[in-house]
Amino acid sequence: MPGLEMYKTAIVGYKSNNSGGHWWLSDADWRALEEAGWKVNWVKDSPSIKRYGGLDSDGRWIGALATSASRTGLPKKMAVAEFEMVTGQFAADKGCPCCGEPHAFYYLKFEDDEYEIDWDLEDGDW
Ligand SMILES: [Zn+2]
Repeated sequence: MPGLEMYKTAIVGYKSNNSGGHWWLSDADWRALEEAGWKVNWVKDSPSIKRYGGLDSDGRWIGALATSASRTGLPKKMAVAEFEMVTGQFAADKGCPCCGEPHAFYYLKFEDDEYEIDWDLEDGDW
């Protein structure tokens, strides 16, 4: 598809929030995302969670196998559409009014040798 070339190295990040006191993605959802080409950040591999001893004996953190993931090579809109198709979730779900939205998507920018979150960058701003 023409126009997608510029997104070849673009990374869309996803962060899950346990809005309403439960995680919105199931174990199967995370595995399906990985299957679909997403890089899932499994909590058992997280150095910071390990360092602070937050990992449960079954490799979960507060019951979750993962709370974030990223997708390389797609504009945000397409990455979000893919996420909805794979998980059956509604990306713009408002979730619980006090806890906030369960799903957040953002661009990751590579700058000064590290990736930085850019919440404001829109599709086409590259
Ligand atoms: Zn709440």
